[in-house]
Amino acid sequence: MVSEVTLQEILAFQEKKAAYLATMQRQYTNCIVVCLGLNIAGPRKTDDDILYAFKEGCKAIEKVMVEKKLQCIQAKTFRDKAGYAKVYTITQSNMSSVKKEMIHIEEEHELGRLFDIDVYGMGGLGIHRKELGMPPRRCLLCKKEARVCMENRTHSVQELEKVTHEMISRYKGVRGE
Ligand SMILES: [Zn+2]
Repeated sequence: MVSEVTLQEILAFQEKKAAYLATMQRQYTNCIVVCLGLNIAGPRKTDDDILYAFKEGCKAIEKVMVEKKLQCIQAKTFRDKAGYAKVYTITQSNMSSVKKEMIHIEEEHELGRLFDIDVYGMGGLGIHRKELGMPPRRCLLCKKEARVCMENRTHSVQELEKVTHEMISRYKGVRGE
């Protein structure tokens, strides 16, 4: 049986992450926090495929951290019925360039459209694509802005779930997994 998540559980999950983020920022002033979550439509936020995609997202971020010599002070994984998340606390570095690297993953990784990578600086302030002159996120299914399709409920949960799992299966298939 697949367990379906409730709105309360989603909110509780978000609160748990936000509280941890605040703790990190109190503990390490001037740090930058990178938070990986997944864009999964509908009430089923966890299964083997979704966990697999999440781990691939972690790998992509960790690769960039090595390449760009970003020093990770702490990393914490959240696994919950409401989803998966990993929060990386890194020493002070250029927030815009970190965000650009994360946008690059979201845009270029084969599973990138499923990743949602937020970057926060001092005081928990996030940095957004718009501030960097980057285009908004695209929808999983069509060429429109993701936000527009979400607000208008353009696509059914079933359609979104289907395309999500197809994307992950394809990715795994190429790798013989
Ligand atoms: Zn769309």
